[in-house]
Amino acid sequence: MRELSFISKIRARAARMPGSRVVKGIGDDCAVVLPEKGAKLLLTTDSLAEGTHFNRCYFKPWEIGARAMAVNISDICAMGGVPRYALVSIGFSKKEKQGFVDSVYEGLMRYAENYGIELIGGDTVGSSVFFLSVTLAGESKRGRLLMRDGAKKGDLLFTTGMLGDSYAGLLTLKRKGREKLSAFEYLPVKKHLVPLPRYMEGRLLAESGYVTSCIDISDGLVNDCMQLSRESGCGMIIEAQSVPVSHSAGMIAQSRRENAVDYALYGGEDFELLFTVPKSKEAHFMNFMSSSGVPVFCIGRVTGGRSVKIRRGKSLENPEEGRIWNHF
Ligand code: ADP
Ligand code: MG
Repeated sequence: MRELSFISKIRARAARMPGSRVVKGIGDDCAVVLPEKGAKLLLTTDSLAEGTHFNRCYFKPWEIGARAMAVNISDICAMGGVPRYALVSIGFSKKEKQGFVDSVYEGLMRYAENYGIELIGGDTVGSSVFFLSVTLAGESKRGRLLMRDGAKKGDLLFTTGMLGDSYAGLLTLKRKGREKLSAFEYLPVKKHLVPLPRYMEGRLLAESGYVTSCIDISDGLVNDCMQLSRESGCGMIIEAQSVPVSHSAGMIAQSRRENAVDYALYGGEDFELLFTVPKSKEAHFMNFMSSSGVPVFCIGRVTGGRSVKIRRGKSLENPEEGRIWNHF
């Protein structure tokens, strides 16, 4: 495949949004955008490598592209920002099929467009391992930025949705692939393949003014709780029985004689938001969220000390070291 024709195809496909502030997109040494007055600029990047982050036998090409975009969008949403501009680096070998790369890109661009994101540049490199790296710029104008370091002792700990589905979906894919899925397996598998970033939720949390800290759950509830508590310098207790787990994840866990709550605690890649709100603001916050029609779940609280603990029934457990997500 020739690099130039590949880039000109992407260039022709990359759409401008109405009211775009892109001065120069693909085609020059740099992309140029007009900053929005008074807005803070948020920048993030995340990469997917074949074999490490996805496996071609489970993922359709368009899903690889969509997923790479989704995980970056989630980071911007976790700060309460609005995603705007994407730069995409892609690496593939000379032997790669053109159709595969084109489909990955199509998935990525469609997904980006749904969120009003403009593709403004990138890089194309030869690589023996297929990889995608997305750099996303977002903006925050209204509301506070949601940082990891503001949780205080006495705050309540919340999440925006069901946890453990993505891991249950991955286990299902590994066991039986994506054909012949039962009805209850379909949703977790779908969630694993293409996560849905909490876009509206992030905006609402920022605008509410009540949220003291926030992170997106990419590496499992326990792991990301540990990140919040480390950055905020406090401890946290997770109430295991309050963690929302879907019926589907429950069924998948049951069939394997495992506990779906463990999927939620240690599984990762659910991309729900995990955040804290002062106890004294609980009622106001819950009113604000329910009037917006967005559900949230209280799953624990912030404590003194530094450690994250899990309450199951009467026992207070330490996180299981061996189950905490490790990138290497
Ligand atoms: P340079 O050598 O200046 O980096 P390139 O030939 O790599 O130029 O890129 C030319 C233009 O195409 C630039 O605007 C760049 O951002 C864009 N581009 C290159 N690869 C990609 C890609 N995979 N996706 C989107 N834009 C790309
Ligand atoms: Mg280049």
